[in-house]
Amino acid sequence: MAAKKTATKTPAAKAPAAKTPVKKATAKKTTAAKLAVREDESPWTAKELKEVRAELESEIARLTAEVAAAESDLSEFLKEPIDGAGDDQADAGAKSFEREHESTLVAGARAGLQQNLRALARLEDGTYGTCESCGNPIGKLRLQAYPRATLCMTCKSQQERR
Ligand SMILES: [Zn+2]
Repeated sequence: MAAKKTATKTPAAKAPAAKTPVKKATAKKTTAAKLAVREDESPWTAKELKEVRAELESEIARLTAEVAAAESDLSEFLKEPIDGAGDDQADAGAKSFEREHESTLVAGARAGLQQNLRALARLEDGTYGTCESCGNPIGKLRLQAYPRATLCMTCKSQQERR
């Protein structure tokens, strides 16, 4: 008879399940006070920021849909051979023009979308309101008119003159 093995099984020591739930600080980040304004302007209020944010978000939604629609149009165009049999030269030219026009639309919508996204990101990280080029305040009035602006008036008009 085999010697009885005394299994010295140590019961798996249960790890102390004293999990203290790490509560995330629910304190809302108030970046409002930090956002740049011009000297003669009052600081951003929560309400004003909310309006600007809503404007950016609705523009982003609109442009996202526009880009998607234009892209699907474009892919329809691309499926058709541009100089397919049966097309005369004028047809081919019209198609090519249409395609280019559509490409321009997509590019424009995409650029606008990027700008809105960037403005929203800056709103999140607290750099909203500061000119990306010169670092001066863009100005609240200008931002309320053009929430997606990331350049001050001076830099913007310099850029356009280039
Ligand atoms: Zn500037």
